[in-house]
Amino acid sequence: MILDGKKTSEKRLALLAEKIEESGLYPRLATVLVGEDPASQLYVRMKHKACERVGIGSIGVELDAGASTQDVLDAVHRLNDDPMISGILVQLPLPKQIDTHAVIEAVDPMKDVDGFHPTNLGRLFSGSPLFSPCTPLGVMTLLSEYGIDPAGKNTVVVGRSIEVGRPMAALLTNADATVTIAHSKTIDLASITQRAEILVAAVGRPRFVTAEMVGWGATVIDIGTNYDENGKLCGDVDFAMVETKAGAITPVPGGVGPMTIATLMENTFAAEKLRSCGPLV
Ligand code: NAP
Repeated sequence: MILDGKKTSEKRLALLAEKIEESGLYPRLATVLVGEDPASQLYVRMKHKACERVGIGSIGVELDAGASTQDVLDAVHRLNDDPMISGILVQLPLPKQIDTHAVIEAVDPMKDVDGFHPTNLGRLFSGSPLFSPCTPLGVMTLLSEYGIDPAGKNTVVVGRSIEVGRPMAALLTNADATVTIAHSKTIDLASITQRAEILVAAVGRPRFVTAEMVGWGATVIDIGTNYDENGKLCGDVDFAMVETKAGAITPVPGGVGPMTIATLMENTFAAEKLRSCGPLV
């Protein structure tokens, strides 16, 4: 079974547009883009386009590549204080001279639709999430839409980044999966991944997960967004080979990527609902 993130995200976006219209609310997302990295510019454009589709207003703050940490902090503080803004997204990665941690920590946790603020990660890890990072949360939605319940399942997440691997493991743990996190220091990775009923790859290496690493019938989630030696977009999973063995698998493109954007829209609407209700007790 192909877990079609494109189709599922379309369905979720259509539903969200209806919910936003019915709510009478007008959520607004602010993006902060520093520099002119083409990939980052493309991602920000895609986010603004998705906003337009569902009835979320969006504003883009752009700073030049030489901006200082203080310049970015000032922009974030202005957006925190702006009562018209529901959610803030700082497009990562930031240029090297900028203290990324300081910027992430400056975002008001109530507007942190990316879910990277330590308060939101803490809430996620303590089992009471407010905003969870969009990519792993999008994976949970995709599993749920296809009726794949992680509860009790032997689940392996390869990758332990703060943005993807760790929150993925936390969401799966909260959903009662039995979770193993593997990383570059893991010994005999294949023996661990072969036992996974749900295998999530968040490694950042083209076609890293081969058929030998996957058990028969496993659900395989490919978070990777890579370009191979021919410049072709591909995931962390060798799709052509693994597809023959997996019970369910996400393609790249058209799998986790579109779910990430749909989830960002859902988080932004959630932020607006919180904002319109006043401060959380
Ligand atoms: P990252 O910060 O580079 O983390 C990669 C992780 O993979 C690290 O934990 C690393 O282990 C582990 N790793 C590297 N080589 C390994 C090996 N040989 N064996 C086992 N583990 C290994 O990357 P990321 O930000 O998590 O992103 C992962 C991938 O997801 C990238 O391709 C990225 O582009 C993609 N991504 C996609 C979306 C989307 O919307 N689809 C969103 C975000 C990211 P160590 O910790 O030991 O170094």
